Amino acid sequence: MTETEPCQRLREVRARIAAAAAAAGRDSAGVRLLAVSKTFAPAALAALAACGQRDFGENYLQEALPKIAALRADHPELCWHFIGPLQSNKTRDVAAHFDWVHSVDRLSLAQRLSRQREGRAPLQVCVQVNVSGEASKSGVEPAQLPELARAVAQLPNLRLRGLMAIPAPAPTLAAQRAPLARLRELLEELRRAGLDLDTLSMGMSADLEAAVLEGATLVRVGSALFGARPKPV
Ligand SMILES: *Cc1c(COP(=O)(O)O)cnc(C)c1O
Repeated sequence: MTETEPCQRLREVRARIAAAAAAAGRDSAGVRLLAVSKTFAPAALAALAACGQRDFGENYLQEALPKIAALRADHPELCWHFIGPLQSNKTRDVAAHFDWVHSVDRLSLAQRLSRQREGRAPLQVCVQVNVSGEASKSGVEPAQLPELARAVAQLPNLRLRGLMAIPAPAPTLAAQRAPLARLRELLEELRRAGLDLDTLSMGMSADLEAAVLEGATLVRVGSALFGARPKPV
């Protein structure tokens, strides 16, 4: 039987991760691959799940909930990550239906998620940091990060795992690496200050090599796995 196209794309992305990990002297088992499935239909996710992909990331709650419901019966093993802009009127559904949230950038959102997660396994969270200055409106400023991270780490039904960033696109490997290195340094500072963190969520289709070189433990890959999206999202 010939390999299906989704399985081939998955193998190619894993090979890119493995090559970058080898170049960095890292074990590629330390890089988790999150398939970013926004705009793609449940059938496309199911095809990738059938190739062994476990982690899926969605940006928009209204789009994600029916997809999670559609896949649940055949693929109860999947792990769902919310990676989009978070609003306070969405936290209840996010806490109910997702395993991870990468986009916490305010204490009030974390407090709501914690309250709404009561009675269940802790929600795994990353704090999103703005490492590109003016280019991004989401994410806490680096100067405010230590205070926010310490407060989030103390909430009862959340487990703070690390940091996430979406740097502005950059044309060269060196330019891609600079904000990713900054995020790694910020994580290292928090660890030195005593927080038990293990996750650097950074790297997308265009910059996953740069991210793995800078220590990413979780890369979020959309178009390289699913093909081009119909419109920029
Ligand atoms: C869309 C998206 C990705 C994936 O982007 P690609 O360039 O398609 O790999 C990763 N992270 C976030 C937060 C996204 O919104």
